[in-house]
Amino acid sequence: MKECIFCDRESLEIIAENDLALAFFDACPVSEGHALVIPKRHVETYFDATPEEHGAISLLAGVVKDMLEKELNPDGYNIGANIGPAAGQTVFHFHMHIIPRYRGDVEDPRGGIRKVIPNRSCPRHCNEEKLH
Ligand code: 5GP
Ligand code: ZN
Repeated sequence: MKECIFCDRESLEIIAENDLALAFFDACPVSEGHALVIPKRHVETYFDATPEEHGAISLLAGVVKDMLEKELNPDGYNIGANIGPAAGQTVFHFHMHIIPRYRGDVEDPRGGIRKVIPNRSCPRHCNEEKLH
């Protein structure tokens, strides 16, 4: 295995952890508070993690969310993982992105992660509903 930056724990500023998972802030945050939650064990992708690791990651995501609520009080979140280079993965140690969102941080947030492939219009016009 090539050296893995997410296995190099010394270089990460860990903000929360449990038995099987760790959380730290992203080095290049796309929004204030952008955090990553990873399994402690080196696995390449979401689909390589065990149910126990998924459970630990979900629980830790909740802990991180509570921390973010206290410190930054975001208006929403996007969470998700890139799986494989075609989907944009650049670090091959599974990580869940927790991206806090703030009202007005982009002009039109409708669709969120559905917009990873830009400029795809929905034939049923599902994206054209107004936000409440
Ligand atoms: P991916 O593109 O694989 O889904 O996301 C990799 C993420 O890891 C990126 O958001 C990137 O900013 C973050 N990242 C890359 N190297 C480091 C690092 O050394 N430390 C931290 N904290 N984040 C990193
Ligand atoms: Zn690793």
